[in-house]
Amino acid sequence: MKKSIKQLLSSYLQSGINSDTPFYEVQKIYFFNLIFLFAIPFAFIVLVINFFSHLYILSLINTLQLIIFWFAFWITKKSKHLNLLPLILIILVLIGVLSAWFFKNGSEYRLLLWIIAGIVLFDNKWKYALFTFFISAAFVAIRLNELNLLEVSYLELTEKTIKILFPLIIFSICLFYLKKIYFEYQFKLEKAISEISAAKKYRDHLLNIVIHDLRSPLSSILGISNIIKNEIVQDTEQGELIQFIKDAATQSLDLINDLLLTNEGPLDQSTFKKTDLNAFIEHCLPALQIKASEKNIQIKKGLNPMPVMVFIVPNKIERVVNNLITNAIKFSYINSTIQVQVYTQEKQAFLVIKDNGIGIAKENQEKIFDTFTMVKRKGTAGEKSYGLGLSICKQIMEQHQGTVNVESNENEGSRFFVQLPLV
Ligand code: ADP
Repeated sequence: MKKSIKQLLSSYLQSGINSDTPFYEVQKIYFFNLIFLFAIPFAFIVLVINFFSHLYILSLINTLQLIIFWFAFWITKKSKHLNLLPLILIILVLIGVLSAWFFKNGSEYRLLLWIIAGIVLFDNKWKYALFTFFISAAFVAIRLNELNLLEVSYLELTEKTIKILFPLIIFSICLFYLKKIYFEYQFKLEKAISEISAAKKYRDHLLNIVIHDLRSPLSSILGISNIIKNEIVQDTEQGELIQFIKDAATQSLDLINDLLLTNEGPLDQSTFKKTDLNAFIEHCLPALQIKASEKNIQIKKGLNPMPVMVFIVPNKIERVVNNLITNAIKFSYINSTIQVQVYTQEKQAFLVIKDNGIGIAKENQEKIFDTFTMVKRKGTAGEKSYGLGLSICKQIMEQHQGTVNVESNENEGSRFFVQLPLV
């Protein structure tokens, strides 16, 4: 019940505001909706009281006010002809001033509310100054009108005028500066948000170009260089050159695929599969062992005696395993060994990849997981590094409610820990 009143109130305050209403208009509509919420019932109650007190002219004025309120409410709700609002405000002020002057019914105090409405409505500072000056002057005149002017001295008159005018002016100036600070800040924020969303659109556009216009020709180069190397060219020197083209194309294609991965959103739940991590690693290792053999590196595995069931998107976790073992190969010396271990501990599955390579300095161990990390290094055989692989591993592990961490000593080697919840 409480919640529904809150929801009702907030949807009432939002009426007339939609997603493309500019920020300035949103503030105005919101504020006026708030005023109507109190002013309409108040004006109605005053109308009833005046009517039963036989003050018919006053009740006529109240009816007029109510009609104006309804009209203004309709304007804001429809979000149409909002430029009529200043005129409506001026009419309300005039009605307030005249009824206070002629009927001495205290309605001049309502003028304070119209000063606040004025700060919301008038964006031009001179218009606002003129408006508040008129209200303040009218306020002073109404208060002095209640005195018997023949009996008060000039000094007393001046004192009373200053006493009323001074707080009103301070009040108006403070409101003006409050609006200035608040609106300027909000305006900057809006501008920044729209710049960010434009930059995001531009980035997506660029990535689409990369996907369509760069990936396909590279794949063709790769396929053709494979055919030329295997079927046409027998000459070793030419074969080496073609191998060079093939390596360059593979490297560029890997980078493009990595770039695309960094831009991926959350994983589709239907792609998760219950998998035995032992069997999964067995399936990944042969291709990686071929790669490792180029540096005469041995990959040794130590699997868990029992199946290790985890819930994973297989091609994503294969990407993590490939990235980590490729790094281990890249940063290990010739003729060394890499150990791959799977085990379980307290409802968690662990995959550890250990090498005896160049290691990572303590101060860089957190930074290596940043996208395009600045602490990237070349491999022990001069292999290229883009500094993307580990950030992708981190992203994939987060998508699996898992983690990837490192323990390392410089010049001794590194151990990467992949942790996944057990099914
Ligand atoms: P890339 O795959 O392009 O090399 P990564 O994000 O995988 O980028 O790695 C970032 C950096 O982390 C590497 O350039 C390297 O400095 C460091 N690093 C990663 N794995 C290892 C490792 N096994 N041994 C030593 N340094 C490593």
